[in-house]
Amino acid sequence: MAIQSIGVIGAGQMGNGIAHVFAQSGFNVLMQDISADFAAKGLATIGKNLQRGVDKGKMTAEEKAAALGRIRTTTDLEDFKDADFVVEAATEKWEIKQQLFATLDRVCKPGVILASNTSSISITKLAAITQRPEAFIGMHFMNPVPVMQLIEVIRGLATSDKTFTTVMDLSVQLGKTPLACNDSPGFISNRVLLPMINEAIFALHEGVAGVESIDGIMKLGMNHPMGPLTLADFIGLDTCLFILNVLHEGLGDPKYRPCPLLKKLVDAGWHGKKNGRGFYDYRGEKPVPSI
Ligand code: NAD
Repeated sequence: MAIQSIGVIGAGQMGNGIAHVFAQSGFNVLMQDISADFAAKGLATIGKNLQRGVDKGKMTAEEKAAALGRIRTTTDLEDFKDADFVVEAATEKWEIKQQLFATLDRVCKPGVILASNTSSISITKLAAITQRPEAFIGMHFMNPVPVMQLIEVIRGLATSDKTFTTVMDLSVQLGKTPLACNDSPGFISNRVLLPMINEAIFALHEGVAGVESIDGIMKLGMNHPMGPLTLADFIGLDTCLFILNVLHEGLGDPKYRPCPLLKKLVDAGWHGKKNGRGFYDYRGEKPVPSI
């Protein structure tokens, strides 16, 4: 079955990015969210991001209009009955995804692949909600989706070779580079990244160096585009804590225990760049260390 019609669940920062790259690559996209307002906001973001491509000379105004014209929005999951492929990028909560996949499994045609963009929930466990675990897979896009090259493709215990090959091919059609791994807490990306971020927070917590020194040393010394504390602020400190807890519980090793300072900032409601304060304070003209 040729894949032409793509269903995207969630119109947030990842969902609208995923809809954007599929539409730009010539697929028809149906993007769903819980309210028409959220879906419209996601569509407006795609319009803005495509316009940035036009401004930079990477695409023409006609190509932008054509890509936008391929995206429709809905709030009704029943509309996914005609989809050839579905990727879910709703809020990172088990209960939400559980309900979504139970419905999608009922609504979608037999054989249609269901993919999740989850950062940390087990693909095997999500697949088991459905009657089609062989057609279930993790398709972990990176943020911002239109810019980042990688798609981490995660095989659940029951994912078939056919599903895997289809998703690897589809990722290439999007102009991305898919790299495979097996289902395990944090997959590869977050299992390797989050302990580094956590270690940077421990170093700050223990007074080994200040925020700017830690970030500067890692940025200049390791040629990283941004320091680990800045990156944590970008990811969201609540999200970092959530993923570390998944690694800690899932792998049972104390090396993954979240630093108490991270917990303290999350308790204070300092969730990083998205709400104005994390390791840096973003409320002024330029970010300054907040602790
Ligand atoms: P977000 O908060 O920006 O967007 C989530 C969207 O899902 C919201 O618009 C929300 O209204 C919608 N939603 C909630 N319940 C829904 C439901 N029942 N049906 C349809 N839509 C629903 O979050 P995000 O950053 O886009 O993350 C989405 C997913 O992508 C999560 O699983 C997350 O772990 C994963 N992810 C995030 C990043 C990142 O850097 N933010 C990177 C990779 C993967």
